[in-house]
Amino acid sequence: MTVEETLTRLVAIDSVSSRSNSEIISYLTARCESAGLKVKSFSHQDESGSEKINLVALAGADFSDPPQIELALVGHTDTVPYDPAWTDALSLTEREGKLFGRGACDTKAFIAATLAAIETVDLEKLKHPLALIFTADEEIGCLGAKRLAEAKPFRARHAIVGEPTSLQPMRAGKGYCLAEIRLRGREAHSAYPQLGASGIFRAARLIERIERIAERLKDDRREAFDPPYTTVNIGLISGGTAKNIVAAECRFTLEWRSIPGQKADHVLNLVNEAVVDLLKQDSDFVCEIDAARADESFETSAGSPLVKFLEAASGEASGAVAFGTEAPSMIALGAEAVVFGPGDIRVAHRTGEFVPVDQLHRSVIILGQAIEQFCL
Ligand SMILES: [Zn+2]
Repeated sequence: MTVEETLTRLVAIDSVSSRSNSEIISYLTARCESAGLKVKSFSHQDESGSEKINLVALAGADFSDPPQIELALVGHTDTVPYDPAWTDALSLTEREGKLFGRGACDTKAFIAATLAAIETVDLEKLKHPLALIFTADEEIGCLGAKRLAEAKPFRARHAIVGEPTSLQPMRAGKGYCLAEIRLRGREAHSAYPQLGASGIFRAARLIERIERIAERLKDDRREAFDPPYTTVNIGLISGGTAKNIVAAECRFTLEWRSIPGQKADHVLNLVNEAVVDLLKQDSDFVCEIDAARADESFETSAGSPLVKFLEAASGEASGAVAFGTEAPSMIALGAEAVVFGPGDIRVAHRTGEFVPVDQLHRSVIILGQAIEQFCL
């Protein structure tokens, strides 16, 4: 089967994150087994009761002990939703050297390339174990990969995390963190504000401190990134009930994207210090912080054999990604991780996403070479 035919089959299976991914996993299981890999699936029910499965397919090792994998090729099986008006979303269409379809770019092209690549190698001859890892729910917070990182069914030394990077190896990425912050006050008639305490004024004081924290964060720089520092955003705020009521509450969402070398909770610690400081001036200052998400940044050294191999094979110097990936989960499993794959992230998540045919073919060659380099 050609890599285009495989991609056609993968795109035809609707694997939007809101659905179960069992159908695409069944297909991948059959393909891996017929190529001689041993497979194990890790299944659970998501919040809406849909079955979600991570699949691990091994060559050169078995599952008896937690295997030590030399090279893991990691692709997520889910896609973002598609506009119903895009009637060809599930039927791969070629035009002018581009293959269009939902997931064609993000990240089914990489998965198709891994299946084609393993067919170019004599897996009987592997000296070091290879794994193909197909995950669930990447698009809604890398949830599948995080489950694997917690369950630790294997250890890995090198991982290529498939994402559309136009075949540029990406060896670093910012973290992604979210917190819901809620300031309490006390309601009163606005003619008598001394009888209450405004949650909105309290939020304003804290937000002014957070803006100062954002300024201080600019001093810690990693020049590989644009911008080269941890960024902070307050994207949502709400509070109060009426114009003439002193607000009993104000809530806002704090988001930050941390550079490598800074722990994900660094910003949260600075915010907590600001809260302690504000409490000194207002003993009634009540602030609840719900840290909803803390995805670590990642950085694999420029001297890593995997970085050097992918730079040489692709002809591209390594760079840094601005979007969240499964790389930190692979690092938690022991791996040096690089994000790499065909297609351009700027066309992903859009109606008419596509992968260039030539990049798809080059991926098959490069992934095949990676298997030979690390596993033979
Ligand atoms: Zn993706």
